[in-house]
Amino acid sequence: MSRIRLLDPLTANQIAAGEVVERPASVIKELLENSLDAGAQSVYLKIENGGKDKIIVTDDGFGMNADDMCLAFQRHATSKITTAEDLSQITTLGFRGEALASIAAVSRVHASSRQREDAAGTELKIEAGSVLSTKPSGCSEGTSIEISDLFFNAPARRKFLFNASRETAAISEIVNRLALSHPSVRFTYYSGPRLLLQTPGKGRLREVVASVYGLDLAEKLLEINYLKHDVELSGFLSPPQIHKATTSNIVFFINGRYIKDSILLNTIKEVYNSKIPGGRFPVAILNISIKPGSVDVNVHPQKLTVKFDRPEYINSVILAAVEDCLSRPDTDTWFIPQI
Ligand code: ADP
Ligand code: MG
Repeated sequence: MSRIRLLDPLTANQIAAGEVVERPASVIKELLENSLDAGAQSVYLKIENGGKDKIIVTDDGFGMNADDMCLAFQRHATSKITTAEDLSQITTLGFRGEALASIAAVSRVHASSRQREDAAGTELKIEAGSVLSTKPSGCSEGTSIEISDLFFNAPARRKFLFNASRETAAISEIVNRLALSHPSVRFTYYSGPRLLLQTPGKGRLREVVASVYGLDLAEKLLEINYLKHDVELSGFLSPPQIHKATTSNIVFFINGRYIKDSILLNTIKEVYNSKIPGGRFPVAILNISIKPGSVDVNVHPQKLTVKFDRPEYINSVILAAVEDCLSRPDTDTWFIPQI
């Protein structure tokens, strides 16, 4: 008798869920990224109990029809790529087609969606990966996904979640980053009855910075705009008199995607090294735009690390841009209207 067997789809999805869905914050990252990929102008997020009891993401994106709704929750089902060649030219945040299947395998899902051109939408209920019901729905345009009782069928996983405030902090970090990398999208984020973030969605990054970090800081940041051949850099840097206790306010976005990159982080720290006290760190929000073909985003299931074709070159452009920005006498003052 053979000792090896193919795992059933639910077990395979639960294993895959471990890579993509670690905690409520990772579920929210995937759901919000899907909303952004669907061209949403406005995204609403509500969590209960640090996302452990409930997560609701509602968008006004292009929605899904009934067939797509059922496919969306299956593994390796994606509308974003068709062949392996497409992996070298990714312009969407998602492309692996695993997130919804992984989330559905370890929670209760209630989703509804309607395409702009359709008269009616579809409502779908899934529990632990099994579809309970689908029916037509009079929902509004766009998509709304409600995730309840995350890891209810994976107690070992649920046990490792932190308390609500720590999970909420992790979620806020994700939401803030997505909002900063998408100034044209209006983000509304509630934890229970508390409004934690509201961005205007007018396409002005400084206004998003004001929503995330406060008006006072946003008005003092220096604007950076730099173009060298095919690398464009934009965003904000703190002047040397403003510094923070951690590096968590140094964020990089590559073509709208938040990434972790220790080399770029060290470059920023080094530039500020002689300008700010030891053990203190600047605020830096840097958007790097490069050709999609010159960066590989398919390195990690959570897509947090990327591989550049020419890492030294990118690093040298950023170094030059930041040094240039900090050496410029900045006489501008900014006024940001309260929202
Ligand atoms: P991926 O984003 O990698 O394609 P997901 O499992 O996250 O995989 O989603 C599967 C598919 O479901 C997406 O490719 C997309 O077509 C569809 N989808 C998911 N969320 C939304 C949404 N909010 N609006 C419209 N379509 C969506
Ligand atoms: Mg996705």
